[in-house]
Amino acid sequence: MSHVFHRNARVDPPMVVGGEGPYLLDAQGRRYLDASSGAAVSCLGHGHPVVIRAIEEQARRLAYAHTSFFTHEPMERLADWLAEAAPGDLTRVYFVSGGSEAVEAALKLGRQYFLEIGEPQRRHFIARRQSYHGNTLGALSVGGNLWRRAQFGPLLIEVSHVSPCYAYRGRHEGESDAEYCDRLIAELEQEILRLGPDTVIGFVAEPVVGATLGAVPPVPGYFRRVRELTDRYGILLILDEVMCGMGRTGTLFACEQEGVVPDLIALAKGLAGGYQPIGAVMVRQPLFEAIRDGTGFFQHGHTYMGHPIACAAALAVLQVIREEDLLGNVRRQGEALRSALVQHLGDHPHVGDIRGRGLLLGLELVQERASKRPFDPALKLHAAVKREAMARGLACYPMGGTVDGKQGDHVLLAPPFIIDAPHVAQIVDRLAEALEAALAACGETRMQAGAPGVRGFGGGEAF
Ligand code: PLP
Repeated sequence: MSHVFHRNARVDPPMVVGGEGPYLLDAQGRRYLDASSGAAVSCLGHGHPVVIRAIEEQARRLAYAHTSFFTHEPMERLADWLAEAAPGDLTRVYFVSGGSEAVEAALKLGRQYFLEIGEPQRRHFIARRQSYHGNTLGALSVGGNLWRRAQFGPLLIEVSHVSPCYAYRGRHEGESDAEYCDRLIAELEQEILRLGPDTVIGFVAEPVVGATLGAVPPVPGYFRRVRELTDRYGILLILDEVMCGMGRTGTLFACEQEGVVPDLIALAKGLAGGYQPIGAVMVRQPLFEAIRDGTGFFQHGHTYMGHPIACAAALAVLQVIREEDLLGNVRRQGEALRSALVQHLGDHPHVGDIRGRGLLLGLELVQERASKRPFDPALKLHAAVKREAMARGLACYPMGGTVDGKQGDHVLLAPPFIIDAPHVAQIVDRLAEALEAALAACGETRMQAGAPGVRGFGGGEAF
């Protein structure tokens, strides 16, 4: 009996014992192609010698020193590297240990910034429905996924949620990109005006929506319009690039492709590629200066922030990405994977949309393409796809609730940046097979609905 309190208390996951490049190995000797890098984490795959060496050397030199006493070289060098690579004047880096912590820090930094500059009345955040920003209470509050929020509702801070930029379902028939943007921006402006423009701290969004929508990029121009609007009202733009950042979409920062510089940007996941837990908030110079020249102290902090081994691992990951031109590979293999998906599954009666950017791709599954009607959530199709894919040696990241937090299913693909053509073919073949098997299993379940013991699928609660 396991003493681990697993994510799903009813499911014992297979025991993973090793990793090699884009593959994971379990205790039974099965190999899984890691087609989602976990949850868009393992950007270099597994066992990269350069990163392992950097971790070993750092562990020998200095494993830990509290940041209230010291700074250290790995943290300084990583901050230099990120500041040099980031767009605009995102010059300061506040280190944490993961994505939720990065979002929490960004929210609190936003609030403190306005206190420092004499605007204490600013206390509201606006975010988007169907977004995910983490599971700690502040991050969950800005997140817009109903299912994840529901039971913790009474504990969450009040946040306004507006429509995401989700062209597949949100754009009206015949509406152009510009008209769709007009409508979304008008909705956001209306909410700003309703709250009172001088009471709003920030607007929070993922440039490419990952876990909860399945790799949905914005329509062209959306974020430029958001930036104009937030600038007009003196509101901070907080971009959550925890999933889509650090090269996943083909540029180091996803916002580079939108032509905007946010005030704060949250990073994690791919930052150290899973070799160490680390997150960061990058901050524009004026925000930093407001705190430096004001109280001088951001009233926040965690024991493990700026952990030397985590910083050394992140620096090694970023250097490998640059030295091996992995952003080029993300763009090339991203295009190859997308066209292979379109070729093999583009006409599938239950694949409604294939979308994404770089190596962050998503397929939305529908009962019927014409009406975009989702499957009955009770079928837990996403869980069946995950199970069938695992049975075929493919680890991908399906999720339910795509449409509104309850209905809808999608599959997220986010393979390591090191994949090549044979891996692309393997992903598509195995996914196509798993999808057929999952659909068949769901059909069976529907026929047996009401029969004793048939209640959806094992593993469905794992998401
Ligand atoms: N923000 C985004 C966009 C994410 O995708 C995630 C995790 O999936 C988080 C925040 C939370 O990160 P973590 O799980 O490291 O706390």
